[in-house]
Amino acid sequence: MNTKEIWQNLLLYLETELSKPTIATFFGETELASLENGQARILCPNRLSLEHLRTRYEEKIREALRAISGQSWQLNFEIRPLAPHRPQELGPIFKTGESTGLVNSYTFENFVVGLSNQLAVSVAEAVTERPGELHNPLFIHSGVGLGKTHLLHAIGNQIKQISPERKVLYASAERFTSELIRAIQDRRTTSSFRRRFRSLDVLLIDDIQFLAGREATQEEFFNTFNELYLAGKQIVLTSDRPPAEIQRLEQRLVSRFAGGVVADIQEPDLDMRAEILRRKAAARGTNLREETVLALAEKVAGSIRQLEGALNQLLAIAATQKIEPSPELAQGILRTQCSSNQEISPQTIISATCRRFGVTPEDLRSASRAQEIVLPRQIAAYLLRKINRSSLNQIGRLMGGRDHSTVLHGIEKIEKEIAENEILRNQVELMRGEILGKIGS
Ligand code: ADP
Ligand code: MG
Repeated sequence: MNTKEIWQNLLLYLETELSKPTIATFFGETELASLENGQARILCPNRLSLEHLRTRYEEKIREALRAISGQSWQLNFEIRPLAPHRPQELGPIFKTGESTGLVNSYTFENFVVGLSNQLAVSVAEAVTERPGELHNPLFIHSGVGLGKTHLLHAIGNQIKQISPERKVLYASAERFTSELIRAIQDRRTTSSFRRRFRSLDVLLIDDIQFLAGREATQEEFFNTFNELYLAGKQIVLTSDRPPAEIQRLEQRLVSRFAGGVVADIQEPDLDMRAEILRRKAAARGTNLREETVLALAEKVAGSIRQLEGALNQLLAIAATQKIEPSPELAQGILRTQCSSNQEISPQTIISATCRRFGVTPEDLRSASRAQEIVLPRQIAAYLLRKINRSSLNQIGRLMGGRDHSTVLHGIEKIEKEIAENEILRNQVELMRGEILGKIGS
């Protein structure tokens, strides 16, 4: 038996313990490189997958391998040498991790520039060249799914790349708020919270409109803002609307936010949508026929997130069913996408998630912290948030009475993983398609 067959058998073996989607998600692009001298070399597509395998499944793999081969092996996990079409995974250029909150894959290189965003992009690039000096604060606003978050991370990643010693932090305003709430319960943590934010060189806060109506958080943010601003540190903010239109935001914050450069991002035109599709397909190693590109680009106007979602669904379905991503297939997807405004019950989302991961709704509500339960639980929370726009508290209740910061943590984790892990992204897109496909049927 060669290593390929051994690995296939091992995955089959694991199916007795792990559900198929779990295996597809975490083992989809793994392989066994060699098996000799008591050593098994296992290749993973990226760092994230490697960490998952090592932290969650090492013991199961070792057991399975022993069962199949009849002897014990020491496991060595490695990242597969780079495939040419995935430039953003060139090792740790942007050493990220917990401390910066940055997602490596959101870069300027893979941000398509067009008429609708060129102003915002050029200001953002200027900020990376001279942080704190030119455009401070930079305030970027647009409707949803038009690239604010991507651009914010791109700024952070680029600054880290140019000067790794600079302290950069990305946080959503929601995260800022929930950490603040946790921190003020204890004086020591309050001061370490302050120190952490006020010692930064670059502060990137996403979706600042979240502060609307939250007076205590606004007060704290105002002080953080001032301290950084006066020290010449760069601040970049995003919002779903311009500063003056954020309701219940203190006037002093409105004027601070509007006091630097305010740039907006508009909806992409047809050319830009087509270019985004070509680039995203190419980044995934697929060349779409121009007819397919145009079919998608013409139908999915509006947000880039929707465009990306449509493409992901198309490619995921084509790959799973081993068919060509044709214009006709694209049309089929668009029918399900277009109905996305209708009501979908939380139960639909929860049962779709349970079906896919082979768990029960009780499992999701339970206290279990087993990985096989935690992942579907977090994905269900993510989908409830994205599809249903449920509040964190609502989701917490649906998930057996979890508090909102636990829910937020889970959703953020899935967001980060989706941004970095193509396999998980496809899984989630497939599920989203399944759920949206339910409407009207
Ligand atoms: P927002 O924060 O404005 O809601 P995001 O930054 O989350 O939007 O963007 C939604 C998705 O669209 C992300 O996956 C992002 O990578 C992608 N995207 C947005 N704008 C562009 C662009 N100009 N080029 C490439 N991808 C983009
Ligand atoms: Mg965003």
